Amino acid sequence: MKKIAILGSTGSIGTQTLEVVRANGDIQVTALAAGSNISLLEKQIREFKPKLVCVWDENKAKELKLCTADLFVEICSGMEGLIKVALEPESELLVTAIVGMIGLRPTIAAIEAGKDIALANKETLVTAGHLIMPLAKEKKIKILPVDSEHSAIFQCLQGRNGSDACVPCNSSSEIEKILLTASGGPFRGLAKEQMREIKPEDALKHPSWSMGRKITIDSATMVNKGLEVMEAKWLFGVEPSDITVVVQPKSIIHSMVQFRDGAVMAQLGTPDMKLPIQYALYYPERRSLKGERLDFWKLGGLIFEKPDMENFDGLRLAYQAIHKGGSMPTVYNAANELAVHDFLEGRLSFLGITERIEAAMEAHHVIENPSVEEILETERWAVGRA
Ligand code: NDP
Repeated sequence: MKKIAILGSTGSIGTQTLEVVRANGDIQVTALAAGSNISLLEKQIREFKPKLVCVWDENKAKELKLCTADLFVEICSGMEGLIKVALEPESELLVTAIVGMIGLRPTIAAIEAGKDIALANKETLVTAGHLIMPLAKEKKIKILPVDSEHSAIFQCLQGRNGSDACVPCNSSSEIEKILLTASGGPFRGLAKEQMREIKPEDALKHPSWSMGRKITIDSATMVNKGLEVMEAKWLFGVEPSDITVVVQPKSIIHSMVQFRDGAVMAQLGTPDMKLPIQYALYYPERRSLKGERLDFWKLGGLIFEKPDMENFDGLRLAYQAIHKGGSMPTVYNAANELAVHDFLEGRLSFLGITERIEAAMEAHHVIENPSVEEILETERWAVGRA
């Protein structure tokens, strides 16, 4: 039986990971972690029987301990607890389905301990790709993408040089271009002026995907696509100039790879995160998965557009952050995390999100090749500044 641990088990990716585990019945979940949703955690503990569970919030951890006093489960809390879950001795693979930069230290700890990573938490690679990818290579572990676009690219690369052995893969010499698809979000086609009055409830309505709140807002600002460009650069070892964002509003093509002979491989499917999650959990095996299938007759046609960089600053600023490099992607990400939080709390306008990112980037002096401590210090700087 494969043994896994999950950071962020109560979220959108976390619960879908557990659905995949439930449907297959041959994976043992040894450890779970979440922020504060202890009522769902308790249900998960009773069903999946992990040995170790972390709740970020110390008081909630104490409450959970009382609720599960009849079970053999260790409850811990805080960063120490998250790292403990990441290092749970029996698990072979860590699913990083936690949201935000908080996932950085536990992910690094798991890689150092030789565990494979099913990576949903893109913030880890965005801020520390230059540390994570060489470490993964050194420890000979796999980083298996969960993000649907990156999973699609990974699937398109199967059978290519090195890609079936381990990620980070060595197929970059055969890749001419990565075509990273984007839905364009709920406000595709709007001019900036029309976005002034957007409220959280409008931005939380994604046209094709049902996801956690933070990533849904990131999709609406196109910051998510910016983060994904950064993630793709590190995962597949390509230059940012070799990544083209293609807007494909129905989210049917999950991404494509153009090879040096001009051939383009694409991965298509209905928008269902359980597919990339299951692919990462069982890689390289393809298991059966229930769900809707593509009906090309119903679909009729697909349209493709260039991303609107004039009205959506999220993607434009991401390319700037990539070109500046070093600690700048951390500033982009950290300023965004806080801005999205403030927008959801009604303290910041929709356009204020990217304005805040831009102001933080303008004020930042880049640190080249930042260490983990410098990345976390940069995060504190960006948050303190806001
Ligand atoms: P959700 O907001 O739905 O879930 C976040 C999870 O992280 C919850 O389990 C939450 O716990 C937990 N969490 C939050 N803060 C802490 C903390 N301090 N300590 C421990 N756990 C914490 O997010 P998503 O599932 O949507 O996204 C997770 C990651 O996956 C993100 O990085 C996102 O970009 C990425 N991703 C998501 C996709 C999707 O379809 N949702 C697609 C591709 C990538 P609690 O519930 O208790 O707050």
